[in-house]
Amino acid sequence: MADLKTVKLIIKGVVQGVGFRPFIYRIAKELKLFGRVSNTSEGVVVYVNVDEDLLKRFIELIKTKKPPTALISSITYESVDFINFKDFKIEKSAKNKKIEALIPVDLKVCDKCIEDIFNPKDRRFLYPFTNCTNCGPRFSIIKKVPYDRKNTTMKDFKMCRDCKKEYEDPLDRRFHAQPNACPLCGPFVWVITYQGEKKCNDCFDYIARRIISGGIVAIKGLGGFHLACDAFNQEAVKKLREFKRRDFKPFAIMIDDIDDISEMVYTNKTERDILYSVASPIVMLRKKDRSSFEYVSPMLDNVGVMIAYTPLHKILFYFLKKYGFKNPLVMTSGNLRDEPIIKDNDDAIRVFKGFDIFLHNREIYNRIDDSVVFVDELGNIRFIRRSRGYVPSPVILKMNFKNEVFACGGDIKNHFAVYKDGKVFLSPYIGDLENESNRDFFISSYKSMKKLLGFNPKICLVDKHPNYFSTMIAKELFPKIFSVGHHIAHICSVMAENALVDNVIGVAFDGTGWGDDGNIWGGEFFVIKDKLIKRVAHFKYFKLSGGDLAIKEVYRSFVSFFGSDKDFVYEFLKDKIDLNRVDIIFSLGEKNINTFHTSSCGRIFDAVGVLVCGDLYSNFEAEVAMKLEHIAYENRVDERYSFDLTREKDGYVIEWEGLVRDIIKDWRNKKSNVISSKFHNSIIYLIKEMVEKLSIEYQINDVCFSGGVFQNRYLLNGILKILGGRYNIFFNSKTPSNDGCISLGQIYYYLNFLARKD
Ligand code: ZN
Ligand code: ZN
Ligand code: FE
Repeated sequence: MADLKTVKLIIKGVVQGVGFRPFIYRIAKELKLFGRVSNTSEGVVVYVNVDEDLLKRFIELIKTKKPPTALISSITYESVDFINFKDFKIEKSAKNKKIEALIPVDLKVCDKCIEDIFNPKDRRFLYPFTNCTNCGPRFSIIKKVPYDRKNTTMKDFKMCRDCKKEYEDPLDRRFHAQPNACPLCGPFVWVITYQGEKKCNDCFDYIARRIISGGIVAIKGLGGFHLACDAFNQEAVKKLREFKRRDFKPFAIMIDDIDDISEMVYTNKTERDILYSVASPIVMLRKKDRSSFEYVSPMLDNVGVMIAYTPLHKILFYFLKKYGFKNPLVMTSGNLRDEPIIKDNDDAIRVFKGFDIFLHNREIYNRIDDSVVFVDELGNIRFIRRSRGYVPSPVILKMNFKNEVFACGGDIKNHFAVYKDGKVFLSPYIGDLENESNRDFFISSYKSMKKLLGFNPKICLVDKHPNYFSTMIAKELFPKIFSVGHHIAHICSVMAENALVDNVIGVAFDGTGWGDDGNIWGGEFFVIKDKLIKRVAHFKYFKLSGGDLAIKEVYRSFVSFFGSDKDFVYEFLKDKIDLNRVDIIFSLGEKNINTFHTSSCGRIFDAVGVLVCGDLYSNFEAEVAMKLEHIAYENRVDERYSFDLTREKDGYVIEWEGLVRDIIKDWRNKKSNVISSKFHNSIIYLIKEMVEKLSIEYQINDVCFSGGVFQNRYLLNGILKILGGRYNIFFNSKTPSNDGCISLGQIYYYLNFLARKD
């Protein structure tokens, strides 16, 4: 210990609000080191007196024993002038102009806090705002960095003596737990009953009884309000659907414990791990029997499940179970159809009038929806919606471009994104920008994230679509705008996640995106070589009448795609629809009025879905395609149809006329039950064939897949099986493969292809 010197360490990453300083304090004590640790906006800074050997051990312990929710992106250190420390201390947060520290995500209640709230002797017995450094709200309550109580919505709650003691004791689990609270000093709950009366006592008991008797309850949670009811009560769910004006779209359910429904759904270890992870997203689980959960997830073979992730939800289930009630609860975003989730008490009281409303006075500053994921056959997590529990932790790029960049994303399933110092911060789920209140949410969220992350970008990226709302918003906010092709952005998002810069085959299959030639693309193959992007194959265009109308009126895709055999189209639709409408579609198509040329694979799935499922309208996006997928699983065969490839000067055209003919043949021969599986197989085989060709032609082995079509598990798993091992296969795994990934892709396109490297 002779040659001690003072070393300054800077630890970056998610190191605030996760118990990092007390952790440093404990290992410093363990190694008998003297020094200081503090939270700065650069990250956690440690000054410590060590020799070489101790420094090594100190860093080793930091890396291996870090708190469960901490995420270290870098540890740097340097020697500084010797300071003669006499002990080890935790210092108060320092102010620093340069804001770099990452903002922690909201965390599921931890096991120790659950113990506290169900221990009748604990002062937090049944207290719904219990938390500690390992759990509780973070992003949803933070107004600015650094993450300190005074910068959160907990600012106005003055800690009582006991809470303060915990907060100041480095060895306590609640040391500097910013939202620390107890029944004496913290937030509290109350209810506005469906009759409009305010109720302050026995609120949980009341709400539990209302749910059991079939009522609908609005519950203020972590990132916004939920609407909840008994998932097995047909009347209650029906009423909820009427309120949300949502006839068939599935609702997520919340359960106390996965064992409560283990008879009804399949789960593997990965799925359970993700359910119980600190992010606790909604996980799509396969039903054992498709007819179960018939009110919440009608006709589909999976159901979205999350576990009670806050003390408030845990306590609600405790009261429900007290009455012997064990059903799952519908737990759906509390909003009006297609609008942002409601987060403020006043709005809730106005909008949910007539329902029981369960309120509390811990303000939600940043609204954030539940995330939705599924697990593929190889055990990879796939996002459908990336929000609570994941936002605002960034996607880290291997780039060091100096300027900040903003990307708007697309208009559908919008998430915007910001690039700063090698990291991309994606916004919470914003929704569809066609809706005005979502546009307001986009702008307010942008302003809030700007303040929070301390950025001020001058460069902005938008989709090439000429009529996107996101572009209009961008024009008002930014002087400099670049537009990025939709499907290029899809592929770039996967490249960004996997640090690929060149030599990539890209497969972008989705519903709708503006193509470079002015047509609607959605079934494209790209090659990226020598930093040049080239479209090398696409589905042969077919004429689609009505454009975006076809997303809901799926029969339009059917008429268009199978239109080469008019007799068949009339025969199939004759008892289902006024055939005059079909005549109109055909004649508008012939005259090219209100008709678009499209290569959209999503629309081809719709067309085949109409044939197999008989649905002419889709109640929600991709409903028919989802049903088609489930039928493929239920009637799985090995056969397939085939596509023909023709080579034109700028690439391959995928001809589908033969496939159309063969599908019609199967239908006429009463073999419609196998059409779906055969159709899926033919898409998988087409991809295999194209990838093989392109790989040889361009000497490329990395293949990136993106687009909403790849949320189809039959397809995804089929591709992994047929191509995995032979090629390096990449799907989106940090962002959704639907348009939720577009903003990340736009940023990466700019950095990798447009910006000059520093
Ligand atoms: Zn805890
Ligand atoms: Zn207290
Ligand atoms: Fe897309």
